[in-house]
Amino acid sequence: MAASLPILRDVPAVPAVRVSARDRRDWRWQLRNAITSVEALEAALTLTPAEREGARRAVAEGFPLSITPHYLSRIDRDDPACPVRRQCVPTADEALEIPGDLRDPLGEEAHEPVPGLVQRYPDRALLIATDRCGVYCRFCTRSRMVGDGGGAIREEKLLGALGYLRAHPEVRDVIVSGGDPLVMATDKLAALLAKVRAVPSVETIRLATRCPVTLPQRIDRALVKALRPLHPIWVMTHFNHPRELSKQSDRALATLIDAGFPVMNQSVLLRGVNDDADVLEALFRGLVRRRVRPYYLLQADPVRGTGHLRTKLDVGLEIMARLQGRLTGIALPKLIVDTPGGKGKVPIGPEGIVRREGGATTLRTFRGEEVVYLDPR
Ligand code: SF4
Repeated sequence: MAASLPILRDVPAVPAVRVSARDRRDWRWQLRNAITSVEALEAALTLTPAEREGARRAVAEGFPLSITPHYLSRIDRDDPACPVRRQCVPTADEALEIPGDLRDPLGEEAHEPVPGLVQRYPDRALLIATDRCGVYCRFCTRSRMVGDGGGAIREEKLLGALGYLRAHPEVRDVIVSGGDPLVMATDKLAALLAKVRAVPSVETIRLATRCPVTLPQRIDRALVKALRPLHPIWVMTHFNHPRELSKQSDRALATLIDAGFPVMNQSVLLRGVNDDADVLEALFRGLVRRRVRPYYLLQADPVRGTGHLRTKLDVGLEIMARLQGRLTGIALPKLIVDTPGGKGKVPIGPEGIVRREGGATTLRTFRGEEVVYLDPR
């Protein structure tokens, strides 16, 4: 029997081990076999000295390392410039701090009215359901706390958050985030979401998850069956590069969308990963083909130790100028800067207004032509 099993190159063990297709499809197996040590990473990829040093640092202190076998299978084992690898393999550059770096760039701790709940806007709040993720993204805004070992939110914290939501009916939209809430057991996640859904003023729930990208096996029938009665639930996912669109991701997205979960994508603009109009065009077109709406292209938050992954603001503006008119509107996300200190998101874009004189506004089109638009008298 064993001889007929495929060899999965990316299993974090030496030498490569035989794994059944059934195990590979099991999200718990994926989590159990995630790479979390320098030795396993070394066995799976040809590491550069900077990556080896970064991995040692990640394992020893602070922001941990975790790469699922699925996500590992998207990585080029010999190319340190691989866009998937740059997102999840630590490097020595993480030890560097540059001006503007912040531990908590979105000021979430200052906007936490009760533990575990962040409110930065009047009508929405973010519930931190767990600190765990399948893969720890090296640019994560919450690197200060994800992977800390706390696990799923404790009952008393959750009760406090629910009490706050009941006392603040102006909050109509709750983003359940983390960490990644989909690494929680299905019954625990469904019970948590049912409690949020039971707050009468909550209209929409959004699940923020990278599982369709990093752990697509997680999106199974049992999950959608358990969550479907709690609609409307929107899924906010996070593809950054077309290489992340795999057969398994396709299946996960179709399972969610066919079960009535609208799926929106937030990409983060990352140096050496997707800071290129052609790459992003391929990603956004690929997402729309899969019925996923590219929603935001986020300027990377100034998280401590991520300067090597961030771009200048001009890079995003130039990319958007190139994509404007080249991509259908449903494939074109908003370019967003989430302002440091938790002051909120600001959409930015190539300047469309050239000048205004009285009721005459000169606009620049995607072809660079200037056209005058006259206000009605
Ligand atoms: S999955 Fe989300 S929360 Fe987890 S490390 Fe990646 S960006 Fe951060």
